Amino acid sequence: MGIVINEDCMGCESCVELCPDVFEMNADGDLAVVKDPDSTLDCVGEAIDACPAQAISRE
Ligand code: SF4
Repeated sequence: MGIVINEDCMGCESCVELCPDVFEMNADGDLAVVKDPDSTLDCVGEAIDACPAQAISRE
């Protein structure tokens, strides 16, 4: 399944700043989206830990 962001995302952009190869903001700039769900980069774990909404998970 890979990396997913649920509806709790509040668009803080923290994950995008920490891990820009994996996360990006959507066209409206209000929610993050995953552009590389299969990434194994260490920054994914950092982004999961840093997300204030606990909206990111690996499934
Ligand atoms: S860190 Fe969490 S709340 Fe912030 S943009 Fe990323 S998924 Fe959304």
